[in-house]
Amino acid sequence: MKKYDYIIVGSGLFGATFAYLARRQGKKCLVIDKRAHLGGNVYCESIEGINVHKYGPHIFHTNNKDLWNMVNDIVPFRRFVNCPVANYKGKLYNLPFNMNTFSQMWGVNTPDEARAKIDEQRAEMVERLKLDGAKEARNLEEQAILLVGRDIYERLIKGYTEKQWERDCKDLPPFLIKRLPVRFTYDNNYFNDMYQGIPAGGYNKLIEGLLEDIDTRTYCNFFDSFRNTWHDIADKLVFTGQMDEFFDYRFGRLDWRTVCFETEVINRPNYQGNAVVNYTERSVPYTRIIEHKHFEMMGHEVENCHKTVITKEYAKEYSAGMEPYYPVNDKKNTAIAEKYFELAKIEKDVIFGGRLAEYKYYDMAPVMERAIELSGYGKQ
Ligand SMILES: Cc1cc2nc3c(=O)[nH]c(=O)nc-3n(C[C@H](O)[C@H](O)[C@H](O)COP(=O)(O)OP(=O)(O)OC[C@H]3O[C@@H](n4cnc5c(N)ncnc54)[C@H](O)[C@@H]3O)c2cc1C
Repeated sequence: MKKYDYIIVGSGLFGATFAYLARRQGKKCLVIDKRAHLGGNVYCESIEGINVHKYGPHIFHTNNKDLWNMVNDIVPFRRFVNCPVANYKGKLYNLPFNMNTFSQMWGVNTPDEARAKIDEQRAEMVERLKLDGAKEARNLEEQAILLVGRDIYERLIKGYTEKQWERDCKDLPPFLIKRLPVRFTYDNNYFNDMYQGIPAGGYNKLIEGLLEDIDTRTYCNFFDSFRNTWHDIADKLVFTGQMDEFFDYRFGRLDWRTVCFETEVINRPNYQGNAVVNYTERSVPYTRIIEHKHFEMMGHEVENCHKTVITKEYAKEYSAGMEPYYPVNDKKNTAIAEKYFELAKIEKDVIFGGRLAEYKYYDMAPVMERAIELSGYGKQ
């Protein structure tokens, strides 16, 4: 008999959830990660007593009551409602686009007034496309104006999107923004989900709970350690690393977008009064500033903690050695990924899951749901 039922490559939410459920089914797992810590991209680093989301801000949200109960059984979640703000040339606008935004932009008060204003602005693009004999938007700029009009596009979408992609909106494909959620209510809650929050004490508590009593190893890269030997110690492999790397890039490398983070400690209790502020002008080099304490501290807790930690985010083109964050789901990459998926089907003893192995953007709740599905939990 082999020592483990599963070797799980990657201790992010997919790997950790899979291990948690496998253990509950009486299976023995070894979880390895090449990083210095467990938890993948939800890992938090404690700086000045503040949980800093090292790989970008993470807000857990879901409509799945069973999943919400499951994570809360592991660690209670604290209330947190994501209400990001946009800063355009020093003026602040609420996000997502809602009655507060429209009121700040045009001084309108009612949904009818806001609708009329948006329709008036959209008409410009409808007319332009008609004149050009175009049936649909030909680039992202046209698509955005068609959806929400010029004011919202120029102040809140253009610069931010151009920084995200390092290209002009006129040179970006329209499919990148198929729809833009617009709300005709005074509701700044970014997510529509029923349940939303942050684990009390940070995401590391959730990962520790998921991986309790499970063998783990950090600084352990699968390709340097177990690639040729995993069969000797485990029945199955769960792989949550990069799919193209697993197959030695035989169909080429998959493209990603990445993000660079610049974190600093500030010697005052409150820097921007909100967890997330987007900078929507192109001339400001970063896309947003995160102030981490606002994820977990409320009211007087903010002022009682005398320092604060902020992170500026810069969107960048990915190259080997950087962290892959967002898949580029264009035609070229989708075609390459499809070829790898076909190879994956042949690997009967390997389960591929998670954002890197499936070349797919997943939020946290869906990636956990995917791990539940692939672990077979609840199906026996
Ligand atoms: C900037 C940003 C912000 C986000 N914000 C939110 C949010 O607010 N809400 C939300 O729901 N979701 C958010 N997400 C999504 C969330 O991060 C993912 O759902 C989640 O991280 C996916 O988990 P995973 O296990 O698939 O991948 P990961 O967390 O990336 O874990 C994969 C692990 O595998 C390890 N690994 C890879 N290759 C090897 C190897 N060869 N050997 C050993 N180990 C290896 C890696 O080191 C890593 O630890 C955000 C994502 C980004 C990029």
